[in-house]
Amino acid sequence: MKQNFVLTWKAKNNIIQGLSRNSSRLKRISDAFAFARDGRVLKGTLPISGFERLHDLLTEITGEVAYHLQGFKGERGEFMLRLEVTGTLPLACQRCLNAVSFDLDVDSLLELVPEGAELSQDELEDDTRDFLPLASELDVAEFVEDEILLALPVAPRHEECGLPGAADAGDRINPFAALSGLKGKPN
Ligand SMILES: [Zn+2]
Repeated sequence: MKQNFVLTWKAKNNIIQGLSRNSSRLKRISDAFAFARDGRVLKGTLPISGFERLHDLLTEITGEVAYHLQGFKGERGEFMLRLEVTGTLPLACQRCLNAVSFDLDVDSLLELVPEGAELSQDELEDDTRDFLPLASELDVAEFVEDEILLALPVAPRHEECGLPGAADAGDRINPFAALSGLKGKPN
């Protein structure tokens, strides 16, 4: 009887996993170059729970972000993607670990290049262009997550942090105390 229950649960779990795999497949663009060439648009929302690389930076994992992905051809006929992402993330304050509300405002312009293509020195040094090397398929959720990570502040903090004394914690280490500690150590 118990065994039956386990099998049923397992079977159910497999079905759920299958469903979520299918739904994430919908967020894939099979040929990003064609997507850009044809000037297509993909937009929608993605749950923050799906961005695993963000989880450690957040105080809670709820809500979603809205994205708008536009393909188009640039002036030189290059294949371009414009990605806009908006939403609010509860980042963990680096001082007190409470939430700092961060409004995402991603607006990235990327030029698609075939994976493994050699970029010229001029292209590499051109600060005005960002390249996205791709074979052909684009995982939209992963791309959105990459661009969110690039947009986050390195050390999020409350402007006026509630943790008492946290602001000057770094000044409290007395350099002389550290030196005298070294002196006493045997070689
Ligand atoms: Zn804080």
